[in-house]
Amino acid sequence: MPERYDLHCHSTASDGALSPTELIQRAHQNGVTALALTDHDTTMGLSEAHACAATLDIRLINGIELSASWQNKCLHIVGLGIDPHYAPLDNATHQLQATRLERAEKIAEKLEKKRITGALEAVKNAAGQGMITRSHFAAFLLSQHHVSTQQEAFDRYLGKGKPAYVATTWAEMDVAVNWITEAGGVAVLAHPLRYKLTTNWIKRLLAAFKDTGGQSIEVVTGRNNAEEIKILANYANQFELAGSVGSDFHSPITPWVELGRLAPLPDSVQPVWELLN
Ligand code: AMP
Ligand code: MN
Ligand code: MN
Ligand code: MN
Repeated sequence: MPERYDLHCHSTASDGALSPTELIQRAHQNGVTALALTDHDTTMGLSEAHACAATLDIRLINGIELSASWQNKCLHIVGLGIDPHYAPLDNATHQLQATRLERAEKIAEKLEKKRITGALEAVKNAAGQGMITRSHFAAFLLSQHHVSTQQEAFDRYLGKGKPAYVATTWAEMDVAVNWITEAGGVAVLAHPLRYKLTTNWIKRLLAAFKDTGGQSIEVVTGRNNAEEIKILANYANQFELAGSVGSDFHSPITPWVELGRLAPLPDSVQPVWELLN
């Protein structure tokens, strides 16, 4: 039986709809044999995920999706095979939880100026112990009928330049990559085509990412089409970066993105799992 990898997904520890246990069960049902749980800026879902994975025939890879800054742009760096107890990384995630709470308070204040009340309490309740994300605000705006889709919540309120947008200082890319590599992990640039960069900027980014110790980029994601996969495979080869595959699954309510439902990694690209022990 060939392995089936999915190296990017979210649980209730960040903005996913499923608990770590439910996520592992669903991945297993979908035939995934190796799953990385990569919650936004936290590893707190991993212990529950491991407890469940141990009861099923599925390998769980310790992961995280770190928010990072580069040239004033927000990027996502996935860490695979990290030691979640490595102190600098663990400390950073706790700091990020505070940063996210402070940002949430500011977002809620901005929404109040738009006469939208109750957001802070709602997102805190929804996130529970987990990380508060803009997805929680989007879900709140949707539930209160201020918008009719999550996308509209970003387009009208939460996206960059919109009335409830709050700029956040994330770690610089090289710092985030260091946390991952020093924690024994492989740093993977998440969804390189989602940052709305020109080809020139993407190439600058890939060169800088490689320079700081980044080892891989996502070539196959839940939303990439064949043309995008080809473009990303070419970038991976041009910059000598391994290729990763990850659905970025968040919730069963978006059935077009499903755990383990991924195109194969092109043969020309070195698989990132060859870099994982
Ligand atoms: P945050 O890290 O708190 O800024 O939240 C970012 C998360 O919001 C992403 O991981 C996505 O899950 C979600 N998100 C960002 N932009 C959009 C968008 N335009 N439409 C829907 N969801 C989005
Ligand atoms: Mn997300
Ligand atoms: Mn992301
Ligand atoms: Mn993600």
